[in-house]
Amino acid sequence: MGSYSHKTFDALALFSGGLDSILAAKLIQEQGLRVLGLHFVSPFFGKPDKLEEWEKTYGIKLIPVDISREFVNMLGKGSRHGLGKTLNPCIDCKILMLSRAKEMLPDFGAGFIISGEVLGQRPMSQRLDALNIIKRDSEVKNILIRALSARRLPPTDPEKTGLVDREKLGSLSGRGRKEQLKLAAEYGIRSIPTPGGGCLLTEKESAKRYLPLFKHKQCTDPDDFYLANTGRQFWHDDHWLCIGRDQSDNLKLEELARENDYLIKLTSFPGPLGLGRPLNNKRWTPEIIESACELVSRFSPRAREFNGQVGVTVKQGRVSREILVRPGQPEQPVQWDEPVWDRELAKVISKAG
Ligand code: SF4
Repeated sequence: MGSYSHKTFDALALFSGGLDSILAAKLIQEQGLRVLGLHFVSPFFGKPDKLEEWEKTYGIKLIPVDISREFVNMLGKGSRHGLGKTLNPCIDCKILMLSRAKEMLPDFGAGFIISGEVLGQRPMSQRLDALNIIKRDSEVKNILIRALSARRLPPTDPEKTGLVDREKLGSLSGRGRKEQLKLAAEYGIRSIPTPGGGCLLTEKESAKRYLPLFKHKQCTDPDDFYLANTGRQFWHDDHWLCIGRDQSDNLKLEELARENDYLIKLTSFPGPLGLGRPLNNKRWTPEIIESACELVSRFSPRAREFNGQVGVTVKQGRVSREILVRPGQPEQPVQWDEPVWDRELAKVISKAG
């Protein structure tokens, strides 16, 4: 992946790394036009570490575009166009990405945008009415080429002026992938990405992790969602505790820790790292801290086997102290629960603001 800020391109392409996004960029690039792929990144989607490999594999220049802040703000305000099956606001998401791509056009001297949307492929965001809403609200009406379905849609400015040969664009529709695979073979693309973009908002197992955060925190931050993606999650009212499942989680928790987070670790036994995040500037009571320490200690087999009290170190900023707990004590005054998927709560959240 290079730095392309000083280069000029004809078009910017939304590039998720999915087959449709690759083919859409290729359809324009094969006409001799210069295409730069924008790979959007947020706590929920994006694989910026793959860009170099993709550039080599598909021969498309790519840059990462971080839209975490705007995306999280949009989720916090509530979805304008509704959610898909889980917590995925696909129409709002597309509007956000296209609006950002439009803003970036002058930076690269580019005149139009390419996307890999296929008419009728997805129930929510790729019906004709949804495609029209996306185009209207992102204000890209005449400069967005949905290259795979272009011949089924009204001509755009670059097609009208002859910059892009409409006849060489696609006329795909529907859910099948046969035509895409045929096109991929024509372009010599052997590495076919599996369908489904891996957006965490579409999967209940990951989306459920975000629900308590929306419920309990007045104003969310992208880092909160990276934290929600990490380790085991536990909540007691608005008290949030994350516990690493392995070394990689523990390292991530350390990286994500902020000054006023509680870092919890067994003093004399091997075990996971716990991170307690106080929300809305609310300090934790000694009772809550002690129960968090007890929970963290339960995930250490050696501490559990030890028949007695074990020391747990709690660090907040520069202040560190040790608390004694008994792992697995049956009667716990504070109950920590793991998040569960709740469609009704998701609906309420999506209408917030
Ligand atoms: S699946 Fe996720 S990344 Fe894709 S359009 Fe929907 S919200 Fe956006």
